[in-house]
Amino acid sequence: MKKILQDLSFKETEELVSAYGEKPYRAKQIFRAMHSGAEISEMTELSKSLRARLLEEFEDAPVKILQTVRSKDGTEKYLFSLLDGNVIEGVLMKYSYGNTQCVSTQVGCRMNCAFCASGLNGLVRNLSAGEIAAQIFRVNREQGASLENRKVTNVVLMGSGEPLDNYDNVVKFLRNINAENGINISHRNISLSTCGLVPEMKRLAAEGMQINLSVSLHNPFDVERRKIMPIAKKYTVSEILGACDFMFEKTGRRYIFEYSLIRGENDTRACADELIRLLSSRPCHVNLIRLNEVKERGLKATSDASAYAFLEMLEKGGLSATLRRRIGADIDGACGQLRNRYINDNFGEVNG
Ligand code: SAH
Repeated sequence: MKKILQDLSFKETEELVSAYGEKPYRAKQIFRAMHSGAEISEMTELSKSLRARLLEEFEDAPVKILQTVRSKDGTEKYLFSLLDGNVIEGVLMKYSYGNTQCVSTQVGCRMNCAFCASGLNGLVRNLSAGEIAAQIFRVNREQGASLENRKVTNVVLMGSGEPLDNYDNVVKFLRNINAENGINISHRNISLSTCGLVPEMKRLAAEGMQINLSVSLHNPFDVERRKIMPIAKKYTVSEILGACDFMFEKTGRRYIFEYSLIRGENDTRACADELIRLLSSRPCHVNLIRLNEVKERGLKATSDASAYAFLEMLEKGGLSATLRRRIGADIDGACGQLRNRYINDNFGEVNG
């Protein structure tokens, strides 16, 4: 298989151009074109011979949009195809302050959380830095944007996969997407969500990037958390909180806990009290989400009334918390659901 151009940093693009014996300004041209979502064959400002040379070494379109589904609320869900035939998904959420794109970092996931559709078939493979970035380049272009006038203003690493289980590629992606000569999305506008891989969280903190950290907590009690998140057998809530505090020390940025409300499991008074005990003195925010029911998983969402009651308990306890409005629920919004439906429709049941 050929290489992926979008994997290159600006420095690596400069080195490539120099190795080709081309003028240095070509590096900027190539990098800008690639970050604008152009494929090599569309980089018409390059000479024909340079394009041909690039195409000998690099794949033309490593990430293609296979399907777009638009929700009534404006949310757009994308299904992308990769060169090896794998499919991944992403979402573009439209807000008054800008558009947030949710990207995938792996094909599948090996964390196997009890409520999540992404882990139903385990991990297929990691995405390269360029495959993660290309999702954004393609969608930004699809929205009719340019590098100067971006339509993707914020990015969340909350699609399929566990970003910190693909550490090197994700960190390379974070550096490339922030490159001055490229799409240059500020780290402050990027959120990385993890189920709590403690050593990698600490490593990430030490990178010194100003990104926002989200942690999928879903239960404050270790014993209960282990029932829904296998990773909790490896790292305790207390270790996670330590890593979060370390991240805050390094970035000065408040962190977020994702908390998907599952009926009768984690929406109790005891859970709210424990969250308050653990978090009220910490620089954090709790993001409540009503579980998006995945039929293969069998867990039920908390009722709206109980979700609001839970929110109120947290707020009364002094926590900063919000209940996320349900977006894109009519288009299989939950992680991995669209991809699974596509695979089932086209290749038969894979989750049976
Ligand atoms: N692996 C990372 C990021 C991907 S999932 C992580 O675990 O954080 C993004 C968020 O959606 C996580 O908080 C995850 O726990 C949550 N999630 C997954 N499936 C869900 C579902 N069916 N309903 C509600 N939230 C879900």
